[in-house]
Amino acid sequence: MQYDRSNIFYKIINKEVKSNIVLEGKHFLAFHDITPKAPVHILIIPKGCYVDYNNFVLNATDEEIVNFNKGISEIIKLMKLEEGGFRLISNSGKFGNQEVMHMHVHILGKSSEE
Ligand code: 5GP
Repeated sequence: MQYDRSNIFYKIINKEVKSNIVLEGKHFLAFHDITPKAPVHILIIPKGCYVDYNNFVLNATDEEIVNFNKGISEIIKLMKLEEGGFRLISNSGKFGNQEVMHMHVHILGKSSEE
């Protein structure tokens, strides 16, 4: 599938649309989901234009992939999710019910401080 720059996450990366940012790295942006489905619900997205998880892994540079995955670990630490546990979800395509066609990983969990 062709990447479409009219999607909301492209606008969030370019700061045309506001988001509640948790962490920004060289190749990723992480922010709170607008409709949280867990006590902590963060979306992490690459800054590059990739439609979904597989498209990202197949086409991104190793530096982007490493920076993105280290970003997930940084968020787990920052939000204190290690103790309580967490889920990582990346919906892709029709079967995956993907709504926003810019690759993203949902980080869902509960802070050990709550
Ligand atoms: P998925 O594409 O994996 O089904 O989910 C997209 C997620 O993006 C949903 O959980 C939805 O709540 C979130 N979302 C959609 N639009 C916005 C927005 O404008 N801001 C933020 N922070 N989250 C959004």
